[in-house]
Amino acid sequence: MTPADELRTAAEKIRILATTATDGPWHQSGIGDQGWTVDTPHAFVAETEDSEKGRADADWIAAMHPGVGDKISGLLEAAAGFVDDYPDLTRPHIDDEPCSDHACHIVHASLAVARAINTGSQP
Ligand SMILES: [Zn+2]
Repeated sequence: MTPADELRTAAEKIRILATTATDGPWHQSGIGDQGWTVDTPHAFVAETEDSEKGRADADWIAAMHPGVGDKISGLLEAAAGFVDDYPDLTRPHIDDEPCSDHACHIVHASLAVARAINTGSQP
């Protein structure tokens, strides 16, 4: 799979997930000592445990609503087009760190996002 393919695969995966999930925006709402919820004005989305981590998880889930996913998908598609036009931007660098060129940095960061989405892995 080429780097552009990786970017487009991740963009498509996120687009499908975002368009099939409950419409956003999502909001975190605490429910006292029973945990934290994420919902819309018309739908329940998720519940997390009653802890500070649970609150942080609910905040995170709400921040990453489907509208954000749609924008991430668009960003990855744009990066794929950039790679089509300038394939040298994907060349490996020493220690896998991008150079100081902003275009190179954007492409490498976008590829890191795409690979995390495509593999479902976390650092
Ligand atoms: Zn570079």
